[in-house]
Amino acid sequence: MDIVINNQQVAKTSLGFFPTPLVELRRLNDALGGANIYIKRDDMTGLALGGNKTRKLEYILGDALAQGCDTIITAGAAQSNHCRQTAAAAAFLNLECHLLLGGEQPAKAEGNLLLDNIFGSHIHWSGENRKGENIPQVFAELSAAGKKPYIVPYGGSNELGALAFIDAVEELRNQCQEQQFSHIVFASSSGGTHAGLILGKHLFKQDFELVGINIDKDEHGQLPFAAHIVQLVNRTAKLLAIDFNFTEQQLLLNSNYIGDGYGVIGTLENEAIALTAQLEGILLDPVYTGRAMGALIDMIRTGQISKTDKVLFWHTGGAPALFAYGEGLQLPPRRNHSR
Ligand SMILES: *Cc1c(COP(=O)(O)O)cnc(C)c1O
Repeated sequence: MDIVINNQQVAKTSLGFFPTPLVELRRLNDALGGANIYIKRDDMTGLALGGNKTRKLEYILGDALAQGCDTIITAGAAQSNHCRQTAAAAAFLNLECHLLLGGEQPAKAEGNLLLDNIFGSHIHWSGENRKGENIPQVFAELSAAGKKPYIVPYGGSNELGALAFIDAVEELRNQCQEQQFSHIVFASSSGGTHAGLILGKHLFKQDFELVGINIDKDEHGQLPFAAHIVQLVNRTAKLLAIDFNFTEQQLLLNSNYIGDGYGVIGTLENEAIALTAQLEGILLDPVYTGRAMGALIDMIRTGQISKTDKVLFWHTGGAPALFAYGEGLQLPPRRNHSR
């Protein structure tokens, strides 16, 4: 969809390969006793090992280029997939990239952090401030040094980032004209994916239920996460000048699977990662998609989602973090191979 605001087409730059594949998870479905799950492979967006941030960055960095900026600043956790994809996109677009990462510099750069280094980004260790609290200071320093910096919000979750998932719903609709999904299950953490899917569902008149699996129990700035998503939906609707008022009662954010918190891997994630890898040859990540798939499997086993429901699991990427979490994984015993 060409998105037009105030009679002007919104700037978008191409960073990935779309549409991403949509396939059935046949062997996992059999193992679950005849479930009906499909997967949307946004881990295959093609930018630096893929992920959902590729979509958002097409709009956000499109805007940075349109404004003539030469430097990008963003923030995240040390193993942020968002920062890794931003670093790669900035390299491709010839923009200097500054990443504010939470925590302290580890002895060894692994996983996404290793890739941030390979892409030549400038890393600022920010201690407790893992959600970009120090951005204004870095922005001021870079401006004083004569740069024209552009701030990409935490997780790429602003109105521009949300626009990308309106496009993603259109992409999905074009991919599956005759198959109607009853549910879309996905990991939700900074809210841009969730907000965009809500608007895309509305604009393209889709019937599926959006089941966001909450990953992170922290609050987002002043607002609880659910309120933050609702605010982002309504701000994006306003930007698009569409008549749509979304309320928290309409939001489905499932917070039953947060376990011990962000990035703490438990039995749920380990089992989902092992099952999906050993039955489908597909890698999930420890922080987001491992948890969301674990949630989906549990909801099917406990009858919250029925086996006859046609479910789309939206794979949002993240597998590079596996290379930093290897020691934390406690995989269940290997499955017997039967044929
Ligand atoms: C960022 C991310 C998410 C969450 O998407 P939001 O739009 O931030 O809610 C899910 N999965 C992976 C792998 C991510 O990197």
